[in-house]
Amino acid sequence: MIPLEIEQIKKIVNGESYYIHDESAVIDTICTDSRKIIKQSLFIALVGNNFDGHAFAEQSIKDGAIAVIVDHKLDKTIPQIVVKDTRLALGVIANFIRQQSTAKIVALTGSSGKTSVKEMTAAILQHCGQTLSTQGNFNNDIGVPLTLLRLTKQDQFAVIELGANHIGEIAYTTNIVKPQSALINNIAEAHIEGFGSLQGVAKAKGEIFQGLLNGGIAIINLDSCSDKWFTQLVNKTVWTFSLTNPSAQFYASNIQHDKKTTFTLHTPKGECEIMLSLVGKHNISNAIAASALALSVGATLDQIQQGLTSLTPVKGRLFPIKLNHTQLIWDDSYNANVGSMSEAVKVLAKQPGYRVLVVGDMGELGPESEKYHRQIGELARDQKLDCVVSIGKLSQFISQYSGEGHHFNNKQDAVNYLLMLLRQQPSLTILVKGSRSAKMEEVIEKIQIEQ
Ligand code: ATP
Ligand code: MG
Repeated sequence: MIPLEIEQIKKIVNGESYYIHDESAVIDTICTDSRKIIKQSLFIALVGNNFDGHAFAEQSIKDGAIAVIVDHKLDKTIPQIVVKDTRLALGVIANFIRQQSTAKIVALTGSSGKTSVKEMTAAILQHCGQTLSTQGNFNNDIGVPLTLLRLTKQDQFAVIELGANHIGEIAYTTNIVKPQSALINNIAEAHIEGFGSLQGVAKAKGEIFQGLLNGGIAIINLDSCSDKWFTQLVNKTVWTFSLTNPSAQFYASNIQHDKKTTFTLHTPKGECEIMLSLVGKHNISNAIAASALALSVGATLDQIQQGLTSLTPVKGRLFPIKLNHTQLIWDDSYNANVGSMSEAVKVLAKQPGYRVLVVGDMGELGPESEKYHRQIGELARDQKLDCVVSIGKLSQFISQYSGEGHHFNNKQDAVNYLLMLLRQQPSLTILVKGSRSAKMEEVIEKIQIEQ
């Protein structure tokens, strides 16, 4: 973190201080997790659904924090700054740090592929200068400020992932981030429960542009966008990307999927050949998005090429696990929604041998959940998958409508069936996917142990 004196922090958050003996003490870390207090840090007591940080304020001082930020004066003689709302205080400090930084900062959101695009953009920008990026999935109203607090004077770039469970969340985080460029990767029926409809999802994602700096660049996917965004952006610079539509500024041609994925990337700065060790058209689209985002803050075509070539698959996201020369599992168990599940079905359809889709439920899809699961089943049938194995109440509609389905009430029974297929089919590809709550990685672990 860029260091701040307690006195500065008190001013920034407009707080009242008590029992602070040295207001010139310097803070270079902010902690919100009482289990991970760092010496000389500032502890912010956040209030969550299942916890209240105020209960740990005193302990945080014993563990080495210099002071705490709280939302009411504690009846204890510990150094404290009292504010109205500790969550907002965290955001205000993060925004102040952001303003101190000279890094070029980009932000992105979307229904799927946020983390993938973030990783790809960071991989490119690492070739341009020191780059900070969101760790894991720290993309909400707490995670985004915590990410900005990690900025140091040495950082030249930052790539920030913004996620949302409700309307207004991205408006809040983007105004803290104040990005130079902001990108929406796509919109799909993800988190419909929180947003009501696809229009609701589009509105929530569109909030990202509210935080754009003056002269900033908005980047939109022509293959998956809302007309309302273009209206919202009349006086801004807008760039577009698409998988293959040449009316976008960034797109791909000459796409080849052999052992590796290769394509020609078209950009306003020229063309270059890209080789990806990731499979799936959605990853090509993600790579194009990342190229646009990186180029918007100065990356060259060479740096884009080097960055994208250096990427390797990540566990849980179409991660290949070889069982032997002709039997393979694609571990895509990290998460699923309608968009990403459809992509997965299409990826599997292109694989060699007997193709088995193993699915758990897609969560948070609201009252039309059954319809969305049925659609995936129909897609599996149209793509002529050889077998669909489902586990879970909703995913049984996938197997039922696939024409080649087998439904199981528990993972062990499904695993036993898959083990039998592995013995019967010498050349076979299994793709495993479901929402995070379905924990489909357990199926893969069991197969690996019992095979
Ligand atoms: P989360 O909402 O959990 O943060 P995310 O948006 O960060 O998810 P990723 O973690 O990159 O997305 O990928 C999640 C899933 O979406 C993976 O299973 C991946 O295969 C799929 N996916 C990635 N990119 C796309 C895309 N452009 N279109 C459709 N599906 C995608
Ligand atoms: Mg993510």
